[in-house]
Amino acid sequence: MSGPVLTTYSMWSLFRNCRKACEWRYIHELVPLERDHNLSFGSLIHECLEIWHRDRDLPAVLDHIDRACPNRAQDEREQRDWHLATAMMKGYAARYPTEEFEVVALEKTFEGKIVNPATGASSRSFVLAGRVDGIVRIGDEHFLLEHKTASQIDADYLERLWTDFQIILYAWYVERTLGLRIAGIIYNILVKARLQQGRGETEAEFEERRRKLAARSKTGKSSARRRLPESDEAFQERLAAKYAEPGMFHRETLYISRDQFAALQAELWELTQAFLDARRRGAFYWNTAFCFHYRRPCAYFPLCRSGGSPNVIENLYRKVPPHEELRDGSSCEEAPAF
Ligand code: SF4
Repeated sequence: MSGPVLTTYSMWSLFRNCRKACEWRYIHELVPLERDHNLSFGSLIHECLEIWHRDRDLPAVLDHIDRACPNRAQDEREQRDWHLATAMMKGYAARYPTEEFEVVALEKTFEGKIVNPATGASSRSFVLAGRVDGIVRIGDEHFLLEHKTASQIDADYLERLWTDFQIILYAWYVERTLGLRIAGIIYNILVKARLQQGRGETEAEFEERRRKLAARSKTGKSSARRRLPESDEAFQERLAAKYAEPGMFHRETLYISRDQFAALQAELWELTQAFLDARRRGAFYWNTAFCFHYRRPCAYFPLCRSGGSPNVIENLYRKVPPHEELRDGSSCEEAPAF
């Protein structure tokens, strides 16, 4: 007889947000062919931070970025990621030349039982697995280190960290499985600069601009010169200046209220019971209020709109075993949890 099914917080979060999306991902094992760009960039930064916090070797980090973007000469998106990741990690290394914490573990995985808090009994159907970005020590206290990339950090963003129940639940599992008492979470937030590399003017654009300037000039002439594309070096310099600004990196420490452990355990248990019921009845209903939750269509929108058409599946999706976050660092992006 097979044992309990491995689950992750992402699965339970998705089940809570839209059961249909959970069915597409975790029962049918479908993912869109085109990976969300925010997730790819977040994974790259996760990997860089792991290398940096393990060895504090900036050339090794930059080499990793070079190797992760092999087609940057031809591919604009890779080129953008390469520039941003390079400048971000150089800025990060300059901002934190030393740390107040000592690294205990990086990219640590755990697996633990899901417990019914009312009876203390463990689920026979599911276990929960996860991975934390880091465990660090300050004095005699341990903290989870959680990396985030963000478009901007403001009061709302920091306020929303309170709703990041995933990491609090993980703290509970780390305590139980690794035997460390976790005092709190250190959020390590890196801001994505919005600067764009100047692409210059085409010959036609330049001629049009010069014609307009000349038309407005009393002499009927213009001394305008064609704007050339910004060189990689010049763009890196602009990015470096941006990443020297204090607001581009932020650390926020939240202490865990231990009452939250019991509440999250109870919630997780309820989700397992609801999932078992949905699976038994084959009733994974749609939550259409969630289709545009992140101000863009849900990854399964074409599939739901087509009523689950096999053609849509064939053209837009592929099968990938679930729980990718246990295999790569794809959890650094901005999408809020629960
Ligand atoms: S498109 Fe809407 S209903 Fe369909 S899975 Fe996504 S959130 Fe759920």
